[in-house]
Amino acid sequence: MAWSFSFGRVLGSELKVHVTFFLLLAWVGFAAYSGGGWPAAVENILFVLALFACVVAHEFGHALMARRYGIRTPDITLLPIGGLARLERMPENPMQEVWVALAGPAVNVVIWALLVVLGAGIQLGSLSQLDSAGTDLLSRLAYVNLLLAAFNMIPAFPMDGGRVFRALLCLKMERVKATRIATLAGQIVAFGLGFMGLTSGNPILVLIAVFVFISASSENQDVALRSVARRVMARDAMITEFRALSPDDTLATAAQAVIHTTQHEFPVLSQEGELVGFVTRDRLFAALAADHPRSDSAVSVMETDIPKVKLTSGLNKVLDGLHKGAPAVAVCTRSGRMVGYITRENIGELMVIQGR
Ligand SMILES: [Zn+2]
Repeated sequence: MAWSFSFGRVLGSELKVHVTFFLLLAWVGFAAYSGGGWPAAVENILFVLALFACVVAHEFGHALMARRYGIRTPDITLLPIGGLARLERMPENPMQEVWVALAGPAVNVVIWALLVVLGAGIQLGSLSQLDSAGTDLLSRLAYVNLLLAAFNMIPAFPMDGGRVFRALLCLKMERVKATRIATLAGQIVAFGLGFMGLTSGNPILVLIAVFVFISASSENQDVALRSVARRVMARDAMITEFRALSPDDTLATAAQAVIHTTQHEFPVLSQEGELVGFVTRDRLFAALAADHPRSDSAVSVMETDIPKVKLTSGLNKVLDGLHKGAPAVAVCTRSGRMVGYITRENIGELMVIQGR
């Protein structure tokens, strides 16, 4: 995610903090300071930091459970509205998804139990005491962990509870249909949360509602896409009419190609027709804007890490390649000659044509 700072690798995942999280800290500190001076500001900032440590632990609950099923988590990002563990892929086995989803909230329950053992009060009158600096930090933290577990178990896809809901539906019906139902339920709940947030003047709740709403529909599309993808072969989706560059071409030639075609990415092919890399319009424009001489070789701005698939590979393999950030996936014959390539855009077109 853009605007995130890396805090290094923890347990095999990169831990990132989004810049808006620091805004939240500043806001919490300032609000407490204007109410109760420095001691309140420091205490509230400590509370938010401790709270987010619990959120990180929650995300690692998901990540470590996913790893048991051979799914890696490249990074975990902290946002003001919570954490986001980006799994390399979603488990498609329903019971695996249930365990991965439950592992997060389970961590918060364990933290709650530990804090109670350490002497946190179990009873807290109401939510309003939560942000009053009078209540001791330990009790507030214990309570908020219970809240986190409960909140995440709301069956609003793609929140944890919604994932469990979808997985249980999957046991009874097809995955695409189950996702569509879970998404609809998630969006209804998101509307409810947004309404609650607006009427009670809670901006964080409104943000969460917007986030749930948007990510529910994008994941719904992704699942639909993958189900089509498994039935389509790379050769049926690939672009076969394209302009290619040769390794001797210059930036000027590549710039001409951008103007004279509708392509945004140009394969660089050797004389034998083997793929050397891709020159993308964005990279080319960046080089020209940085005053690279136009006589420079186009190869100097080329991306070389391009996934290759066979003509008969499933489109789901292509999606995995694109998901990792490649501008295109090359389709090659057995002898290594590139005969076509696939971009995100033409998969989108394929979806429209294939219908659902
Ligand atoms: Zn979670």
